[in-house]
Amino acid sequence: MKRIVILGATGSIGTQTLDVARRLPERLRIVGLSARHNEELLRRQAHEFDVPPAGLECGEEADLVRLARLDGADAVVVAVAGAVGIRATLAALEAGKDVALATKEVLVAAGELVMAAARTNGVRVLPIDSEHSAVFQCVQGSPADSVEKVWLTASGGPFREWGRDRMAAAMPADALNHPTWPAMGRKITIDSATLMNKGLETIEARWLFDLPMERIGIVIHPQSVIHSLVVFHDGSVLAQLGLPDMRLPIEYALLHPERVDAGLPRLDIARLGTPLTFDPPDEARFPCLALARRAAQSGGTMPAVLNAANEAAVGLFLEEKITFPAIPEWIERAMDAHAPQPRPTLTQILNADAWARRQVTQDF
Ligand code: MG
Repeated sequence: MKRIVILGATGSIGTQTLDVARRLPERLRIVGLSARHNEELLRRQAHEFDVPPAGLECGEEADLVRLARLDGADAVVVAVAGAVGIRATLAALEAGKDVALATKEVLVAAGELVMAAARTNGVRVLPIDSEHSAVFQCVQGSPADSVEKVWLTASGGPFREWGRDRMAAAMPADALNHPTWPAMGRKITIDSATLMNKGLETIEARWLFDLPMERIGIVIHPQSVIHSLVVFHDGSVLAQLGLPDMRLPIEYALLHPERVDAGLPRLDIARLGTPLTFDPPDEARFPCLALARRAAQSGGTMPAVLNAANEAAVGLFLEEKITFPAIPEWIERAMDAHAPQPRPTLTQILNADAWARRQVTQDF
């Protein structure tokens, strides 16, 4: 029986984690839940999973660090929106708990610190992100130095076939219409439309799998059947396939290395009825990919600036204050104005994060 805390319990990943727990009551016990906005749903969840009041945190001032350290918990699911999860992730690792990580922004902004904390405390950061779960599943049983390259697949998002003019006039509702993955949060859905999601995932993969950026490729695969691929030094390529259902990577992160039947729907490969296609991304129409690469190459606090400027710009786009193509423009402006600090402390990362948000939002 694994005892689990979920930070961000009422969001898309949080509710799907609870569904996995509901299906596997003999294996997973929920001992802590947090929510920022939806207190009513949190109360209902707490009632259903019999979580005591000491395991609950709710509201804007929710103490995620306290929950992350909760006595008796074995693992903490970090599924809060954005960089706010950094402190809680570090607290969980320092308290000796495995972290099942959905919030990729934590690794983008503070990957070096987070992976060092996991190593120092002898615990693990297990990916919930579907691409990274796919890579993690593919490398099981192979030596760490046997990986030549990782390919992260991308659906291409709702604007995959849109021209520049049409993208310039895109409204939040257009971008929120994701073609293959159902019911994602708003922020990640916009990130999928700009392809920044894939840029952030490249940085996330770099830390999770200890690979240099040039050995992490992106391939557009609109069918979202293959969730990522690993090329090994002998030239063999392994891929992980499945339905676009986040409950599978959630279950794997929580029960790894075991595989248990939670009654999830199966991919019927013989009746797929569609070809699987792969194409390189169009970096001219999706400049966020190059921005993410540049941030990783600059290193230090620059990825935190990339991430925070992106969160702020996406917020402005959702409020219809800036256009869709202005999202990468604002990110680039913040990056141009930032002199990155090498090997940053947590305080320096959080300061860079706050600075970048102000750079983007101060004129609105
Ligand atoms: Mg993903």
